[in-house]
Amino acid sequence: MLASCTTVSTCTASEAGLCLGEAALWKVQDVLDQIDIESLVIVKYPAPILRKKCEPITTFDASLGQLVCKMCELMHAQNGVGLAGPQVGLPLRIFVWNPTGAPDGDRVSINPALKDLQGQVEAEEGCLSIPDVHVRVKRASTAKLVAFDASGAQYEIVGEDLMARIWQHENDHLNGQLILDYQSPGEEIAHRRALKELTAEYKKSHPKKKASPSRGRRR
Ligand SMILES: [Zn+2]
Repeated sequence: MLASCTTVSTCTASEAGLCLGEAALWKVQDVLDQIDIESLVIVKYPAPILRKKCEPITTFDASLGQLVCKMCELMHAQNGVGLAGPQVGLPLRIFVWNPTGAPDGDRVSINPALKDLQGQVEAEEGCLSIPDVHVRVKRASTAKLVAFDASGAQYEIVGEDLMARIWQHENDHLNGQLILDYQSPGEEIAHRRALKELTAEYKKSHPKKKASPSRGRRR
């Protein structure tokens, strides 16, 4: 049980991120120490964590390595090419990616920064947190990614096309941005039904807690 989740009687791992993200005081590293990483699941729209600006990771330890493995596992299970911290309920600046799906192609980018964004290309994108929604998004066609790996070593890599697109999509997640923010008016209309269904599903699995009984009149 998380100390910062005392307002709920049960708190699953995926909700833990939400609780911690909402808390006034919490330490980033405590997140990984206090949750069951193996029970993480992909968080779906409209979970509030997907709109949070994420915090940098400061400690590179075994828990972080375990998180990276779990995120890669979840990404592959859904045939995804990228997955970011908030998508597993954690407000942390981390994403995993693998443009080809090759077993040895998994990479992790921690506290990433995108530089030298050049060119522009439009293509359709989906998101593991927003099933059945596809949005045409204009992205830079080439980019340089500066990030840390799970051991804390910094690296730089220049990528183009799909690779550069994945980085920009996942980096958006770390700043609370979603592909929905790029929708054209026509796409907004086309996605209404899917988003309404996702919202209904979310509400069903996250029922509102009853308000605590009043403790007397306000003075
Ligand atoms: Zn996404």
